[in-house]
Order: sequence, then C-alpha cells, then structure tokens
Amino acid sequence: MRARHVVARVLSGLGPVLLATASLHSQDPVLALADSLKSTYEKHPGLGDPTVHRLGDGVYAVTGLFHSSGDPGVNAGIVFGQDTVVFIDCGMSVVSGQYLWAIASARMTGDETVILVLTHHHSDHVFGMSVFKERGARIIAHDVTAWFLRERGAEYRAFIANMEGWTPETADSILGDVSLSEPDVTVNGDYVLSVGGDELRLLFAPGHVPSELVVYHPGSRTLFAGDAIYEGMPPTAHFGGPAEWRTWIGQLQRMGELDIEAVVPGHGRLGAKALIDVNINHLRSLL
Ligand SMILES: [Zn+2]
Repeated sequence: MRARHVVARVLSGLGPVLLATASLHSQDPVLALADSLKSTYEKHPGLGDPTVHRLGDGVYAVTGLFHSSGDPGVNAGIVFGQDTVVFIDCGMSVVSGQYLWAIASARMTGDETVILVLTHHHSDHVFGMSVFKERGARIIAHDVTAWFLRERGAEYRAFIANMEGWTPETADSILGDVSLSEPDVTVNGDYVLSVGGDELRLLFAPGHVPSELVVYHPGSRTLFAGDAIYEGMPPTAHFGGPAEWRTWIGQLQRMGELDIEAVVPGHGRLGAKALIDVNINHLRSLL
C-alpha cells in the first residue's frame, strides 16, 4: 500500500505534502476519472472545487468539496482494500457523495464490501450519506452521531438551510435531496476495521464534538482526521469550552504518537505530521 515512487512530494512542514503530476493522472484510474468528470460536475453549485490526491496505492484524499462557508471546503477520504472500499466522510451535499462514488467507481468491480465511516455528525461530513446507503454501504459512526441522526436528522437539512438564509430552491439546488439515516454499526471507543487483509484504526477523539472519530491507515501512514485537525485556519472550538479543549489536546497528543506521513484535515490542505502541533498550539492559546 505504499507505492510512493510515483508520488511527487513537496517537502514542507505545513503546506501540501503531495503533488499529483500529470503523468500520474494517466496511470491512476481514480485520478484519471476525476479529471474526465470535471466538465460533468464543475457547474454544480453543491460540489465546490474538489481536488483528488493519491496518497498511496488505493489511498486517496479529496479536498475542497462544497462548504457553505466557501473556501477551503470540506475533505473526504477513500481507501481500497482487497474486495473492500472504505469512504471516510461524504461531503455537505448529495452531489458530493455522488462525486466520491463516481471517482471511486474507477477501481470498483461492484462486488466489494463498501463501508462509509462518518467522522462526526456535522452536516458538512454527513449530508451525502444517502448515496452510499442506497448503494448498500455499511455505515459506521460513533454512538453520539447515531443519536444525533436518529433524534435530529429529520430537521437537520432545514436547520442548515435556515441558518444559511437559503430559499427552498437554493437549498434544493445546492444540497439536493438529503436523507439521513442511522449508522449500521456504532462504536463508542477505538475500533479496528479490517479491510481485505489491511486495517484501518478508528480512534475515538472527542474535543471538537463528542462524536469525533479519526481514521488512521497504518499501511499508508495516513491520518484522516476529520475535524479533529484543521489546516489554514484555527480549529472550530465553539462547540465546547476549556474542558473539551483540554480533552481535544490530549487526543491530538495521542495522534502524535502515530507513525504519520500525511494528515488529511477535515478542512484545508493536506499536511504533514506537524499539523498536529499547529492545532494543539491553537487550542492551548484558548486556555
Ligand atoms: Zn467540518
């Protein structure tokens, strides 16, 4: 899972660490399909301006999916195992989910087990979930995400549309027919997910919100951090107070013990491991 010889890297502590080259696009089916889909999707108001990054053999990050606050959008991940594909988050719109599924289909046979991990319950990470549910994916999330989707899921789309001041027509055009459902599997702590001879480690990492999971893929040394880690902006801390921020710092310190080459933050550009300390320092400054 570490065919890194084809990945051009920019050695930077905090900037983009991986740069997909034109020649790489012609070799990688997911990147090639993402290129060819640009004209199909680029005018959709709910997609944003996504970029697909190859982090290893069968390991991808997608940055810049639509977010109601504008740039830099929201991120997601895709990891292929043997006969399995795992999606990590699904964007803030149905079309974001459709786009993620479409690019992954470049490597899918139709027979694999499909899993969607929701890093937490916020709209920008879950609103595309029906695309996966309708196609038979098993959805995994924390108990608190399950509770939220069960208790608040029916009103969540209208809540977001109201918060943004969108007309019903605007909400329809951007978000699409959002349909939220309870996860198939819930976890309330760390969890090892076996994916066809490979594994992903789900780490319970509360702080941003109490439902937060991060996903570590040892095979590619990638941390899909959800909103436990931000790049290019301070972490969104107003869902908690000092107690939650201390918990969050502790979780980031735990992530710092992992062998990491690439961090996929919930928002912003891909980063190196040093992004963990940047987020710790931001949170410490609040205390
Ligand atoms: Zn987010």
